[in-house]
Amino acid sequence: NLSKRLALVASFVPDNARLADIGSDHAYLPANLLLNQRIAFGIAGEVAPGPLANVEHEVHKAHLESKLIARLGDGFAAIQPDDAIDTVVIAGMGGRLIADILASGHEQEQNYQRLILQPNTDVLVVRAWLQANGYALIDEAIVYEDHHYYEVLVAEPGESHFSDIELHFGPYHLKRQNSVWQQHWHDELERIQHILVRLQAAKKAESAAYQAYATQSRQIQEALQ
Ligand code: SAM
Repeated sequence: NLSKRLALVASFVPDNARLADIGSDHAYLPANLLLNQRIAFGIAGEVAPGPLANVEHEVHKAHLESKLIARLGDGFAAIQPDDAIDTVVIAGMGGRLIADILASGHEQEQNYQRLILQPNTDVLVVRAWLQANGYALIDEAIVYEDHHYYEVLVAEPGESHFSDIELHFGPYHLKRQNSVWQQHWHDELERIQHILVRLQAAKKAESAAYQAYATQSRQIQEALQ
């Protein structure tokens, strides 16, 4: 069974998709989707030989050789035109790395009907990349697992026009104010307020760092309704 995080990612994969999972490591996601007959075909791309061996082990164990191809390659280089991929997942990495992978595959990835991205950090960097490169954000989600909050962004070719606050917090999250998302930002607010108290105690309330944290704290309070 998939982790809560990967199950959330999987929930956005269209039925019968031809899926590329970039940075697949154990290939749990495409293997699970194939075993549940949710997708037609999968590529599990990996840049590193160690994780690629994990992919191959999983493919073999699940008898998925004809439907799940393990491929060594940097980002989108693991995908070939004949694969006829329509959906791409990039999950479990930092947002900056995800944006770098998207940027270096940009010409090809225009053909894909859906991108499902799960940045562990720097979610706003991924939102900004989507906005700057002709993608509409069609959904967002968040899950809490093993003491971490994980966000998922779902994008399709189109346009995004995010305000600054939407870029930071997510347009759908701001509207929905769901409890997991609220908890995530309450936790972050608490963390920042502790820092502000410490800076005050150290007589650094005039510093640039203090001002930056104070701004963040105000933004979070505005975002939470
Ligand atoms: N996607 C899986 C998940 O969400 O559970 C595995 C995440 S694992 C933490 C990240 C994987 O991405 C590693 O196995 C790493 O080798 C791979 N990776 C990092 N940069 C990559 C790139 N440019 N192209 C393909 N894979 C990459």
